[in-house]
Amino acid sequence: MKRNITHLVVHCTATAHNASVAAIQRYWQGTLKWKAPGYHKIIKADGEVVTLLPDRKIANGVAGHNKTCLHVSWIGGLHNDNRTMAQRKALAAVLYNWLKEYPDATICGHRDFPGVNKACPQFDAGANYNYLKSYVVAAGSGAKLPAEPPAEPSAPGAAGGAFGV
Ligand SMILES: [Zn+2]
Repeated sequence: MKRNITHLVVHCTATAHNASVAAIQRYWQGTLKWKAPGYHKIIKADGEVVTLLPDRKIANGVAGHNKTCLHVSWIGGLHNDNRTMAQRKALAAVLYNWLKEYPDATICGHRDFPGVNKACPQFDAGANYNYLKSYVVAAGSGAKLPAEPPAEPSAPGAAGGAFGV
C-alpha cells in the first residue's frame, strides 16, 4: 500500500567516504538496536544507490516523523559537504523518482526538523534539490516529464546548468 509521504529527507552518514554499507548497518542493528534501517536508500561515493528498505516500509531516519518520510543518505559528510559529483547526481535521481510518486512531498534535510541538533546532511537539501519539483509540477499541467533527472543548476563547475559532463 502506498504511504502518505510528506517529506523526502536527505541525510549524510557522517563517516568517511569509504565507510561500508555493511558496517553502517551493523552499527544500527548492533549498537543502536534498531529493527529498521536508518534510510531507504544509501549512496556510495561512486554514485551507486543501494536500497536498504522498500519505500512502503518505515525507516528510522528522524524520530517522530518516520511514518510520513522517505529517507536517503549519502556516505560521507563527516566534517562538511564533500559529496562527490556522482553522489550529487544519484541524489537528484533518487529524489526525482520519489517526486514522481509523491509530487506534493517536501524535499528537506534531517537538520530541518524541529529539535534536531546536528548538521546532517551538511547542506541545504531543499535549496539544492527543489529545482526538481518544477519539472514534476509542470508535468502535472501537461508538460512532458524528462526521463532522466534534470541536471542540478547549482553543481560546482556546472556550465550553464549542466552537471559538467
Ligand atoms: Zn540524518
